[in-house]
Amino acid sequence: MDETDDSRLDMALRDTYTRGYNGAPSGLPALAFGSILFWKGFAMTRKEAERQEAIVELRAKIQPGATIRTILRHVSRSGMTRHISVVMPDCGEISWLVGRALDYRRHNDGGLVVGNCGMDMGFAIVYSLSHALFPDGFDCIGEGCPASDHSNGDRDRTPHKHSDGGYALRQQWL
Ligand SMILES: [Zn+2]
Repeated sequence: MDETDDSRLDMALRDTYTRGYNGAPSGLPALAFGSILFWKGFAMTRKEAERQEAIVELRAKIQPGATIRTILRHVSRSGMTRHISVVMPDCGEISWLVGRALDYRRHNDGGLVVGNCGMDMGFAIVYSLSHALFPDGFDCIGEGCPASDHSNGDRDRTPHKHSDGGYALRQQWL
């Protein structure tokens, strides 16, 4: 670093100190960079807002203990990708909302485009959905409660909290 660089750095530091860290950087490149960050932030915020809206809407339809059905629409020739629709007994097709809530793309056939991870993807979708809807767990629904705690020895069916929200919903293939 030569003397010029040194004094430039010094000036930049002094600038930062006098304006504070929140002061807007100056110059055209900084302005351009700033707008990129702004638009990126805006796009992310909008996506997050849509995600939250979808969760609120789904939460209004779905109670713990509900059975969510999945329909396999398509399996790619390689077997790596599946299109899966999500259906509720009383509300019909909810794939669109589930896609928004869990960030899955939707195919023209209506199914969510899901990469196959070597597991039951119908179960995986409903587990993730359950987690998104009940992130803080859920209250035991008594007889027929789907909580994994009960298969792990919890015989208590009186009102108490299940901490894993992922098991609030049941999944069934159609
Ligand atoms: Zn329970």
